[in-house]
Amino acid sequence: MKSKKHIAYIGIGSNLGGRLKNCKNAVQKINQHPEIFVIKTSSWIETEPIGYTDQPKFMNGAIEIKTSLTPQKLLKTLQQIEKGMGRKKTFKWGPRIIDLDILLYDNQVIQTSKLTIPHSHLKEREFVKIPLLEINSNLNFIFDISSNS
Ligand code: ATP
Ligand code: CA
Ligand code: CA
Repeated sequence: MKSKKHIAYIGIGSNLGGRLKNCKNAVQKINQHPEIFVIKTSSWIETEPIGYTDQPKFMNGAIEIKTSLTPQKLLKTLQQIEKGMGRKKTFKWGPRIIDLDILLYDNQVIQTSKLTIPHSHLKEREFVKIPLLEINSNLNFIFDISSNS
């Protein structure tokens, strides 16, 4: 791994097939990348679907990683893993084998058409908050700030 190291948090979700197996598989694939090291993995929780509710429940969790990849390259890597695991394009918030979102990347703020960091729905999603705080309770401050401010 290159010397420049960054800490990032990835949100993981699945609501199709072997949901837990899919999530764990994704963690393994992420960790296999030569420029990513998985530091911590949260517990897995079953959650109700949001947005489009007429679909199976999700398994959700999060991981803390160390990486030398840029946020853009990290996104690309995660999208390749999603695709490799058989994720098909459906509709917004529809059912999926695997969903890998970058929640945080160091303390960077990024807002481009392809990438928003911190993840745009970070604060209002319990299924993100619970695993994230489990692996790093110091991130509590993120959820204390009002979404309107
Ligand atoms: P949500 O973003 O509300 O969780 P989703 O995960 O279902 O929705 P996707 O269809 O997986 O959305 O991704 C849509 C696009 O979101 C991707 O093509 C990607 O470019 C963009 N995106 C923006 N910010 C991020 C991020 N932080 N992590 C992952 N994808 C992101
Ligand atoms: Ca998502
Ligand atoms: Ca996504």
